[in-house]
Formats: sequence, structure tokens, C-alpha cells
Amino acid sequence: MKHIQHFINGMFVDSISQRSFSKLSPVDGRQIAAVQEADEEDVAKAVSAAKAALKGEWGQMTQRQRAEKLEKVAQRIIERFDEFLEAECADTGKPKSLASHIDIPRGAANFTAFSHALGNEPTETFSMDTPDGSKAINLGLRKPKGVIAVICPWNLPLLLMTWKVGPALACGNTVVVKPSEVTPTTAALLGDVMNECGIPAGVYNVVHGFGAQSAGQYLTQNPDVDAITFTGETSTGESIMQAAALGLRNISLECGGKNSAIVFEDCDMHSAVEGVLRSAFENTGQVCLGTERVYVQSTIFEEFLHRLKERVSELKLGPPDMPNVNLGPLASLEHQLKVLSYYDLAKKDGAQVVIGGGVPNLGASLDGGAWVEPTIWVGLDRSSKVLQEEIFGPCCHVQPFDDEREVIALANDTNYGLCASVWTQNIQRAMTVSHSLDVGIVWVNSWFLRDLRTAFGGAKQSGIGREGGVHGLEFYTELQNVCIKY
Ligand code: NAD
Repeated sequence: MKHIQHFINGMFVDSISQRSFSKLSPVDGRQIAAVQEADEEDVAKAVSAAKAALKGEWGQMTQRQRAEKLEKVAQRIIERFDEFLEAECADTGKPKSLASHIDIPRGAANFTAFSHALGNEPTETFSMDTPDGSKAINLGLRKPKGVIAVICPWNLPLLLMTWKVGPALACGNTVVVKPSEVTPTTAALLGDVMNECGIPAGVYNVVHGFGAQSAGQYLTQNPDVDAITFTGETSTGESIMQAAALGLRNISLECGGKNSAIVFEDCDMHSAVEGVLRSAFENTGQVCLGTERVYVQSTIFEEFLHRLKERVSELKLGPPDMPNVNLGPLASLEHQLKVLSYYDLAKKDGAQVVIGGGVPNLGASLDGGAWVEPTIWVGLDRSSKVLQEEIFGPCCHVQPFDDEREVIALANDTNYGLCASVWTQNIQRAMTVSHSLDVGIVWVNSWFLRDLRTAFGGAKQSGIGREGGVHGLEFYTELQNVCIKY
């Protein structure tokens, strides 16, 4: 069984109290690791190390030198690909085929993409005349913000953590990461890679533990943290916003979604079915961008539903190593209970279960795992919590609509506003509908097609701020105006 430690000031250490918690496999419920749980003092040590590192070798490096180091980190993740893959799949239960083409390569790419994007950003200048007839020039100079707290979820652990750590370090900051208690391993492994690549001690720190009254809260409340970047549930985002109010620290919040797919009669049916299948079920539905509400134009509703059901019936559930497996378990037994509570609620609220709706029988050896069946419902009223709240499981509700106005109103009928996908061959319609949706990201005839230079973030209760490409500069740097009179 693994023993997972904090990574503070370049060293793997236990908590001062030696307190630890169990990490269970979502595949079969066995304990696979004992993870150290940080107290306030452990977190304070990590923050002090990060603060000191700002003034050390890291703070003295040129942007190019930092970028070279981060490129090495990306390269080393790829060299140690199998270790990262093994760790990520053990923690999450996801298929190796999925993690090997999304989680680990993107985890590495996050270190190169941002150092390239940020290194090529021009400096803003404004020339002006002065009242006494002279001139002045204003230069917008950027400085690192300082110590960044990085609070992460469990669904794409390495990918979402490096999505924040990559740009934070590229901008010259130092970080203290609090990975999800459900998926602690790859964040710890990255500490080893940081040492191998000569990232100075204190630049990258990891503390393990839970949220409230634990490592997460101790970190966000630490006054030496200069800014907090968070990905997770909207309700946690609210607590983090309150913590950040103390000392007026900046926040970036990437929160939940209740995303829609809108399928018009003029779509390419094959692409739409395959796209919605992926968007609702990939990663066992545990993707913030995942589709839980599908609206299909009435004229093609029956055909679409039939074809989607057929494809869902072909999905193969199994452990990470199983050949041709499509879906793993949910990430934890707690999450399984939550998702199954929505499966029950859907039935109580009068849904017709098109397929799935329960726990699969995968044999005695997997009985203790967090398995649920991929599920499609029809027939729910808009007021059902199943259509209003984020479930974060392999399920979707499919509903017919007649025209554009109706479907725009339906899609916007939620407190969330992360993303949507629109399936149509009509470019005019695609543009009009996309722009009418109250979301941060729209995909037309695709889903989760990511260019790391683009703005990423949600509207409404799906978050605050945008990360990605140069947009991260706004959060990870302090913009200083220097006005020179001449
Ligand atoms: P969560 O909010 O329960 O936990 C996220 C992290 O916050 C964990 O590390 C947790 O320990 C920590 N935390 C919890 N309470 C805290 C507190 N009071 N103070 C400080 N830290 C605290 O989320 P989760 O269940 O791990 O992840 C699933 C959620 O993440 C879903 O809602 C999903 O939509 C969202 N998500 C959003 C995006 C996005 O980019 N918008 C991406 C992935 C996941």
C-alpha cells in the first residue's frame, strides 16, 4: 500500500501530527494508500516555503530560463508516462485508454503551452501629450502575483492541476497545491519530477487533506497566500470566495455546470449521436463540460433517441486495464451515493428510464466499487432537480423541442453557464443560437475540442474569471503601469 506524503520545500514529509486518511480504490473499494493529512501548521510551512522561494533563485530567473525549466517538466512527465498513468488510473478508476490520450499528455502540455503563450505576449503601451506640452509614455508591466493557492477536484486530477500550476509558474509565481482528497497521487509524483528538473525548492508544494476544517480551508485562509485558483463545486467556490475576502485576495473560480446539447434536424446525425455520446458519458460523466440535458428537434427526436440508446447499450464498463473498456467506475463511493440518489429521484419525478438507471452487476470482485449504469431518461418536467442540479455522472435527459426560440429558453433555464454544444449544418443558425446562450463556451458540431490559447471559464454560477492562453495573465500577474514623462 502506498504512503503518500506532503511535498514541502522540495522534500517529501509527513504531517507534524502524523495524521493520515485512507484512499480507497473506486474499482473495488480496497484501501490503496494512506495519505498524510495536513494540519494548519503543515500548510503554514508550505506557504512560507512558497513565499521564500519568490525571493530566491526562482525570482531571479529570466522568463526564458523559467520556460526552459517548465519544458523539462513536460518532457519528464512524458518520460515517466507509465507511472503517471498507473497512479491516475488507480486513484480514479478511469480506463487507461482514456487517461493515456487525455489526462497525462494534457498534463504535460500544460507546462509548455503557457510558457510559449505568455512569453510572446506584447507589452501594452500608450503615448500621451502632457498639459505642459511634453510627452509621456505608459508601459503596462507585469509582475508575478506571489504565492498562489491551487485547489483541485478529482475528475481530471493531473490535467486540471497543471492547467493552473503551468501558467502560475510560467508567470513567475510559486504555488501550494491542495489536490482532492480522492486523488492525491499524481500531484505528489509531480513533486519528484520538479526536483529532477531543477525547479528550486519551495516553488511547487503539495499539501494533502480535505476542504472545510482541513488543508483546503487552512490554505485559503492563510494570509500569505496572494491569490486562489479553484476548480470544483459551486458551493465550495462560495466558501472560497468568502475566505478570499479576508485580505482582498484575487480568485479564479471554475465551478460546476448543467450543460446542454442542442441537436437540430439539419445536423449530421452520425456526428451528433457520437458527439452527445462522448459529452454525456466520457470519463463516466465526470467532466465539468459534460452534457446532462439534451434537446433534440421534434422531427428527429425518435431517431436520435433510438440511435443514442443503441450506442449507450454498447458501452463496456470495467477496470482501467481491461481491453476495449469505455467506462470506469465513479471516482468514489461517496460520489456513487450522490449519483444514485439522482437516479432514484428521476424515477420519483416520473422519468421514463430509456436505458440504465441502476448499479451494474460486474461480478463479485468488483462489488465493492463505485459502479453505476450509464443512463438516459425522458419525460421529466423542467422543475425536477434532476434537470436543475449538476449530477456529475454518466446520465442525461433527452427532450424534444420545436424551434430556436423555445430551445434557447430551455437551454438557458439553469443557474449554471459553463458550456453548450450545438449540432447543425446551418452556420447562420449556429451563430445566432451560440450567441444567445448564457454560457462561457460553445462548441458547434464538436465537444471538448480545446485550443489551450482560448479563454476558458463559465458564466452565471459556473465561475468567475477566464483562464487559458494569455487570459491567465490577468489572474496570475499584477499589471503595473509605469508612466515616463520625457
Ligand atoms: P469540491 O468542490 O467538492 O472539491 C474541490 C476541492 O476543494 C477539493 O480539493 C476539496 O478538498 C476542496 N475544498 C472543499 N471544501 C473546501 C473549503 N471549504 N475550502 C477550501 N477547499 C475546499 O469538488 P469535487 O467534487 O472535487 O469536483 C467536482 C466538481 O468540480 C463538479 O462540480 C465539477 O463541475 C467541478 N469542475 C469544474 C471544472 C471547470 O473547469 N469549471 C472542471 C472540473 C470540475
